[in-house]
Amino acid sequence: MKILVATEKPFAAAAVNGIREICQAGGHETVLLEKYSSREQLLEAVADADALIVRSDKVTQEVVDAAKRLRIVVRAGAGYDNIALDACTARGIVVMNTPGQNSNAVAELALAMMVYMSRNCFTPGTGSELSGKRLGIQAYGNVGRLVARKAMAFGMEVMAFDPFVPADRMREEGVTPAENLEQMYSTCNFISLHIPATPETRGSIGYRLMSLMPAGACLVNTARKEVINEAELEKILADRPDLKYITDIAADCQAELNEKFGKRVFATPKKMGAETAEANINAGLAAARQIVEYFGTGCTRFQVNATE
Ligand code: NAD
Repeated sequence: MKILVATEKPFAAAAVNGIREICQAGGHETVLLEKYSSREQLLEAVADADALIVRSDKVTQEVVDAAKRLRIVVRAGAGYDNIALDACTARGIVVMNTPGQNSNAVAELALAMMVYMSRNCFTPGTGSELSGKRLGIQAYGNVGRLVARKAMAFGMEVMAFDPFVPADRMREEGVTPAENLEQMYSTCNFISLHIPATPETRGSIGYRLMSLMPAGACLVNTARKEVINEAELEKILADRPDLKYITDIAADCQAELNEKFGKRVFATPKKMGAETAEANINAGLAAARQIVEYFGTGCTRFQVNATE
């Protein structure tokens, strides 16, 4: 089979070598399309691919239509909102992600962001400590759980809200299950977002929830910009001069936020949560292994769409 690795932002060389080795051992050919600059290049490259590995690359209806032989797409990473799921499902193409492979990198960044905001963006002067503060984790998945463990090591009290995770599991892990979002937002000094962007979560974090936050609280977003209602974020930051917002995914209006709110807001110049050598390699190798296993045994573990 021909396995295309299409990455506008390439994998680390070690990851590419590992992907090649895994595919070769499974009897498959690897083709690389890195740093492509036009849709046409991608459309041409997918035309005879049986499998596709991508990172944040957009797999649109157009790409699916051009990929006449495609049987499986693996997003090397957690979020898969860059894949046109319906288009894939309609063609019977299996879509998978590689959950958990970059979670540690994102979790470390979330903690680093809390320290950064607590120390006034590393500006000389008196800051504050994480120890003894309360952290609310919105979505207790792979990243959220790791953030909880690391935050507890910092001496933070941790609460989490995730309707799909049993409260007992949270308690066993030293985390207080929140009864609802309102309780979590009104009692925590930091809220760390780890929800996927879904029709339910898009634009769901805005004025109402943020206005419940205690004095001096900080919202940390390493999830997706789409979950924020940006107009409402801007309004609450204006109405509540004590609140802070730090994100790994710059808002569309980030320049305006920076100008209006100075050191109370910060966005990484480019999404970098998963940008560690370790995460890069883990996710790339997992994607290759999942494809080889799928072609070998039909295994669809980690499939995120519903093909028959
Ligand atoms: P995951 O799939 O392991 O966990 C997601 C969790 O969200 C699940 O536990 C699920 O039950 C929960 N959830 C779903 N809808 C919810 C809702 N409405 N309210 C509360 N909880 C809800 O995903 P993950 O690996 O932990 O990643 C979390 C998110 O972080 C991803 O979806 C992605 O958007 C983002 N992410 C960002 C980067 C980055 O580079 N900044 C890297 C990886 C992931």
